[in-house]
Amino acid sequence: MQDCVGCGMCCYIPEIPELDKECYSECSKCSDDRLCLSYDQRPEACKSYKCYWAVNDLSDNLRPDKCGVMFEKVENFPIYAAFLLPHRPEAWEEPNVLGIIELLISQGNSVVIGNGPNKQILVLTPIGIEVSDVLNDIKLAQEQRRVNGGSVIHNRSIHV
Ligand code: SF4
Ligand code: SF4
Repeated sequence: MQDCVGCGMCCYIPEIPELDKECYSECSKCSDDRLCLSYDQRPEACKSYKCYWAVNDLSDNLRPDKCGVMFEKVENFPIYAAFLLPHRPEAWEEPNVLGIIELLISQGNSVVIGNGPNKQILVLTPIGIEVSDVLNDIKLAQEQRRVNGGSVIHNRSIHV
């Protein structure tokens, strides 16, 4: 696992209920240059978080703010969400990003590519997995979060 470089994408893309922050919105504690203005008081959801790039020691050009995509595992399901930055709607087609998507699928995961709350643009699945099953699993993951008071990913939640 490598150190988070503070690119700020995880302060913008996910919903963070503890902060009343919706998906794809600026956190009120985030400065213009994407530094946390409330670092010592930031909620547990922020303290415990590391994106797929940071957890997996990926190359610098795959950093979310550089490649335009932030990957996230959906808790308890073999599904990854690939969140596109709004100004990079085609970032998932870049060869380096496609390489990650292909790797995840070869490992038996499905990948849901989205660019905003409830905006799926593509669902990619391993052979034998139906898109409808993936979408049902995401609904289940969101239901688990509601019931358990927990979260879909790392104390944050997704809407894909
Ligand atoms: S998206 Fe990843 S690299 Fe960027 S601030 Fe969040 S954890 Fe750090
Ligand atoms: S509280 Fe700080 S670390 Fe958490 S989302 Fe807001 S700016 Fe980011």
